[in-house]
Amino acid sequence: MLDLVKLPVLLRKCINMKIRKGDKIKVIAGKDKGREGIVEKVYIRQETVLVPGTNLYKKHVRKSEQMPKGGVVEVPRPLSMGKVMVICPKCKKPTRVGYMREKGSKSRICKKCKSTI
Ligand SMILES: [Zn+2]
Repeated sequence: MLDLVKLPVLLRKCINMKIRKGDKIKVIAGKDKGREGIVEKVYIRQETVLVPGTNLYKKHVRKSEQMPKGGVVEVPRPLSMGKVMVICPKCKKPTRVGYMREKGSKSRICKKCKSTI
């Protein structure tokens, strides 16, 4: 069943998402601080992002066809959006993302160089 109370909030979040799939980000906190990567997935509800190569944890897997011996694989875990910053493709710096309204549409801008990203 659709949660009508929560839906508008989620929609608003969706529109105001500062990080999008395909964005280059830099990790600014936690054990992977300083690491860079490309956002593979955005979890809006959880406010986390999945970035391959960051926040890895070891997962033990059972024997399977792909892994006949079983063993340990490293799996990326989603990172909180508060722990990452978008790297602006124009000025190549980790930046905060702002919004600019023009002609009824909203565009994402880099707060450092003011260019649309
Ligand atoms: Zn910039």
